[in-house]
Amino acid sequence: MKFLPLFKVLSAYPFLSFAPKLFEDLEIEEELKKFPEIIEDAKRDVLDAIRGDLNPKSSLSERGEFIPCINCDLNCWKCEKIASFENCDLCLDCFANCKISYGLKIEEEIKLSAKKSVLRFVTAKILVSKLEDWIRMRYAVNKAEEFSKALEKEDEAIVRIVARSLGIKLKGWDVHVSSYVKASARIRDDDWRLVNRFVSDGYVKLEKAQALRIIKEFLRILFFEKTNLSIPLLEPQLREIEKMAKREKKVDFDLGEVDSSCFPPCMLEILSEIKRGMNVPHTARFAITSFLLNVGMNSEDILKLFKSAPDFNEEKSRYQIEHIAGVKGRATRYTSPSCDTMRTYQNCVANCNVSHPLIFYRKCKKRKGLKS
Ligand code: SF4
Repeated sequence: MKFLPLFKVLSAYPFLSFAPKLFEDLEIEEELKKFPEIIEDAKRDVLDAIRGDLNPKSSLSERGEFIPCINCDLNCWKCEKIASFENCDLCLDCFANCKISYGLKIEEEIKLSAKKSVLRFVTAKILVSKLEDWIRMRYAVNKAEEFSKALEKEDEAIVRIVARSLGIKLKGWDVHVSSYVKASARIRDDDWRLVNRFVSDGYVKLEKAQALRIIKEFLRILFFEKTNLSIPLLEPQLREIEKMAKREKKVDFDLGEVDSSCFPPCMLEILSEIKRGMNVPHTARFAITSFLLNVGMNSEDILKLFKSAPDFNEEKSRYQIEHIAGVKGRATRYTSPSCDTMRTYQNCVANCNVSHPLIFYRKCKKRKGLKS
C-alpha cells in the first residue's frame, strides 16, 4: 500500500511535515463531525498542558511497529544509505512505491489511526492558537517534552525522519551549525554556547542525547507557532478551556494588579521555571525582576514569587530586588533588558516582532483598551 510505513510514523508523530501530502483534501471540519471524540481528545491535550500533566507516549520501536523498510527487497529507492535515512530529503518517492501489504482491513485501520492522530494534533493546535500566549507556551513545552521522551526510545531511523521533517541537518549525530544556533539560543546553559563546542565542516560535534535536545527545542518552536485555521465547531471547547485557564492562572500567576495575560513568552517561561522550583540563571532573574517592577508590581510581591526558587535567601533576594528597583545602591531604577540582550543571554524563547518585552506588554494592554 502506498505510503503504508509512513502512516505508522504519523500515528506516533502527527506533526510531521509530510502529513498534508498523505492526507490531501482532508476536510477537517467534516472529519471532526464524523469523529467528535477527536475534539474531546484535543481539548484534553490542551487542558493537560495547562495543568502541566504529562501523558507519556510509547515509541513505535517499543510497540514493535518500527517501519519495515530495512527488510524491504522491492528495490524502490535510489538513496545512498538505504533505510538509515541518513541523507533522506523526505521526497517520499520510496514510500510512494511501497508494495508491502497487510491485507486491506489492517491497512485501512493503520491509515485511519494516522488520520485521527493528525486530526487530534491539528485540532489542539487550532484551539491553542485562539488562546492566550501563556497557554500556547505551556502547550508547546508540554508536547515537546512528551514527544521527545518517546523519541529517546525510538529507533535511529525514526529520529532521523523526525529531525529531517523539522528541518534539522544531521550528519551522524552532529548537527549543522545553522540548526544548532537556532535551538541552542533557547537553552540557558553555557555548555550549549557555540564557542564551547567543537565544530567541524559546518557541523557541531554532538552525542545522540544532545541531538535529541536540539530536536526538543525545534519541537517547542513548532508547537508554539500559531495556525490561522478556524473552525466554528470548536467554539464550545474554546469557552470551556478559557474558563479552566482563568482558574489555573489565578492560582499560578497571581500577580495582583499586573496583567499576566499580556506577558511576553520569555517572561512567562522564566516565571513558570521559578514556579516549578528550577534554578534560573542570574540574567533571567534580573530580566523578570526588572520587567515586573516596570509593569508596576511591588517589591514584596516579587519577593514572594522567588520563594519557590531552590536557593531562596530572603535577605539576599530582598536586597537584589530593591537594588534593581533603585531603592538600594545607586538609586537607579533599572529597565528590563531588550530583546537583543535577552537573545544574547539565551532568555528569548520566541520571535514576537518587538524590540523589547515591555513593548510587547504595552501593545497588548493597548489592544485590550487598558492602561499599563
Ligand atoms: S522576542 Fe522579545 S519579547 Fe519575544 S520572547 Fe524574545 S525577548 Fe521576549
